[in-house]
Amino acid sequence: MTVQSGAPPAGATVYGCPRQGRRRELKRAVEGYWRGRVDAAGLHRTAAGLRRENWLRLAGAGIDEVPTGDFSYYDHVLDTTVMVGAVPGRHRAAVAADPLDGYFAMARGTQETAPLEMTKWFDTNYHYLVPELGPDTVFTADPGKQAAELREAQALGLTARPVLVGPVTYLLLARPAPDAPPGFRPLALLDALLPVYAEVLAALRAAGASWVQLDEPAFVQDRTPAELAALARAYDHLGGRADRPRLLVASYFERLGEALPVLARAPVEGLALDFAEDCAANLEGLAAIGGLPGKRLVAGVVHGRNVWIDDLGVSLATLSTLRGLAARLDVAASCSLLHVPLDAALERDLDPEVAGWLAFARQKTAEIVTLARGLTHGTGAIAAELAGRRAALAARAGSGHTRDPAVRVRTSAVTGADAHRREPYGKRSAAQRARLRLPLLPTTTIGSFPQTGHLRAVRADLRAGRIDTAAYEEHIRGEIRAAVDFQERAGLDVLVHGEPERSDMVQYFAEQLTGYVATRHGWVQSYGTRYVRPPILSGDVSRPGPMTVRWTSYAQSLTERPVKGMLTGPVTMLAWSFVRDDQPRAETARQVALALRDEVLDLEAAGTPVIQVDEPALRETLPLRANGRAAYLAWATEAFRLATAAAGAGTQIHTHMCYAEFGDVLAAIDDLDADVISLEAARSHMRVAGELAAYGYPRAVGPGVYDIHSPRVPGTAEAAALLREALRAIPAERLWVNPDCGLKTRGWPEAGASLEHLVAAAREIRAQL
Ligand code: GLN
Ligand code: ZN
Repeated sequence: MTVQSGAPPAGATVYGCPRQGRRRELKRAVEGYWRGRVDAAGLHRTAAGLRRENWLRLAGAGIDEVPTGDFSYYDHVLDTTVMVGAVPGRHRAAVAADPLDGYFAMARGTQETAPLEMTKWFDTNYHYLVPELGPDTVFTADPGKQAAELREAQALGLTARPVLVGPVTYLLLARPAPDAPPGFRPLALLDALLPVYAEVLAALRAAGASWVQLDEPAFVQDRTPAELAALARAYDHLGGRADRPRLLVASYFERLGEALPVLARAPVEGLALDFAEDCAANLEGLAAIGGLPGKRLVAGVVHGRNVWIDDLGVSLATLSTLRGLAARLDVAASCSLLHVPLDAALERDLDPEVAGWLAFARQKTAEIVTLARGLTHGTGAIAAELAGRRAALAARAGSGHTRDPAVRVRTSAVTGADAHRREPYGKRSAAQRARLRLPLLPTTTIGSFPQTGHLRAVRADLRAGRIDTAAYEEHIRGEIRAAVDFQERAGLDVLVHGEPERSDMVQYFAEQLTGYVATRHGWVQSYGTRYVRPPILSGDVSRPGPMTVRWTSYAQSLTERPVKGMLTGPVTMLAWSFVRDDQPRAETARQVALALRDEVLDLEAAGTPVIQVDEPALRETLPLRANGRAAYLAWATEAFRLATAAAGAGTQIHTHMCYAEFGDVLAAIDDLDADVISLEAARSHMRVAGELAAYGYPRAVGPGVYDIHSPRVPGTAEAAALLREALRAIPAERLWVNPDCGLKTRGWPEAGASLEHLVAAAREIRAQL
């Protein structure tokens, strides 16, 4: 393929950068401020330094329009709430008294006031603070942060483009305020919000912005005609103003679909589309409307949220097709680089073979610049990069690290029967009843027990070499003894070992499976100052040996009561990792499932009567558009069953999920065919119990009666009331009693008291049955 030179030069840009800094300086400064160790001026100075470093790095790499306003002390949706003055009533006094402290109060709450709710940003692991809007919300424009950051970048002599959450997406991400009347929808506030956005845009133009980016990712999801009409109205309004900068409306994570013609017709000067995640669909969509004559197209060809080097040849071909479809074409990553780590070059301990396949934010930036150069000056100008990339991709495809023939033989031999328990639920539950002899309303927990500062210190000692493995493991056994002792004294029926050996439920297994690699510096923001280091699925997965058996068996050796083994399910093992891009997720899930299947059989052979396979991420990786969901749920549930179905009838398989919205995946939950499922329910007043009953769910359920996300200790009466509520939906023979989730983040005093109350509540209700 050759790309002709001669057309107008292609620019290179990105929509946002990782915020934390190379040494997570932002985390340290913000947390220092919360503890009173850093003052506001110090925090602002650190932040300004990090922004400057990001911009200079981008510009130095060849990015010719840098983003501004993407930086945040906590979350950019919360920043938008401040920008439009939508501070909830309960926080207004604090924000008026001190804007920075008020900002953090909205994010984290105070002793007296609850924070805003937090939820996942589309299908990423980034969490945003949910705007709370009601009919009384009065919007006022506060362009201060956006204008100031624009000026900072301009002062460095850079061309900068402010990036804002678009007004329609902002409203679609919002929830009705607690006091809003039933049926109120935040989108009803659009006409009040638009003049405020217009004012912010005018202020940015006055500050020297020639382009402003408005992100409308909500339109990569299925939208109603009314929502599409709102989109059209919004951009007619904003585009119709004379005192505005040029507008670039951005979408990412999926195809724009029905919203593409709406925005193509709108009086805006540019669109940014994702050509990495669903390239063909956006290409077809553009071709169908005859391209974007007269407009700027920003093409997100470099995948913005995977960690893999780009196939530059393929991207260049896409770009050259796009070139004929718009007046100006720029190259970008498909979404903000917020969702990938900063720099793969920092990973000096990685297997150099794998390291050569990785591209984090810094490497992706270089790829974008290379592609823009190739587009502008022709293929010849980047011949060396193209050849190097072809060689790296060929090496990756043929590498023994990527492909393990034994794994491939095994996955391709899987049959439908492998993914089904041999006995139907009726027979299994009879066998399990006979074996376990549990009372009605059996009590259990979700797996983890409090992880104390002492435990974390011991783990740090092991990593630093201050203690050896034997000393560490002795300590872990002590934690298990304490957990088992407590559970026996508290009178729980099915015990757990408490998971003290795991600092993270995915990382623990990733470290023991082949096909996963861990990074040292690969931090990405999860929320606020919380950063995670997801493991990377880089090759075929297998299990060299048992991963959990000795800890579970040790716990079982301490007690007569049944101990539940504890595994992380295949869907969650993928969802909380970076997955490979060279094979379908379904294939990777199947490999992980087979490794877990072996673990289930080893646990069973060691005498473990109950095995829980957690799938808290099943609901969260649901595709953004409805037409992808059936296929996803089919492979996801199959992977779970593949992991669990080899268990004999007398082995009780549990699963667990959190995050209260299950309404649209009830059939998938049923498809898991787990003997017992525990779900988060305490916060949502047992809603899920009613939903499962209405669906006709046939197996045992443990809706949580203790909200572990709060340090509050629920009393016996409160837990008993929740159980009575659950019993209205689920018959006593199929009802379990447990908390909402694991107790890892709780302290012993409150977790202990809460579990004692939970057991007392179960006994009280049993006595009345
Ligand atoms: N077994 C895990 C625990 O108790 C489950 C955690 C989760 O659902 N997120 O910690
Ligand atoms: Zn959970």
